[in-house]
Amino acid sequence: MAECLISELNNLFSKDSQSFVILYDIACSFHAHVMNSNCAIHTIKSKLNWGVSIFHAYAHSVKCQLKYHPRIQEDIGLTDGESLERIWSYLGKFVLNTKHMRPAHRLDILSLAIQHISQKMIYDLGNLILY
Ligand SMILES: [Zn+2]
Repeated sequence: MAECLISELNNLFSKDSQSFVILYDIACSFHAHVMNSNCAIHTIKSKLNWGVSIFHAYAHSVKCQLKYHPRIQEDIGLTDGESLERIWSYLGKFVLNTKHMRPAHRLDILSLAIQHISQKMIYDLGNLILY
């Protein structure tokens, strides 16, 4: 699945000058997998930079943290790689209301919720920068 997502991203941003930072709970293991020539995305390995998302980084070995901790990765600023965790946490509020819905209805509600939180995050971005 992760390989498919990265492959699709590479199709969207296919220029050699375009690269990706993959912040993932097990980026170290996934990086090793991608370095295997049998991996489906091995051919784009030079476009990929790897980091372990910050809340998971401390569960990895010191050697791993020295290579993959987001605070030592270049060009990613203070990104922590935990955005999806925040979205999952937000969507957890909808479990009781959506668990008995048909899948299409559940998808509608969750899509609207994601649109709402995205707009709120964009709206609040100015306040984050200001303070
Ligand atoms: Zn690791």
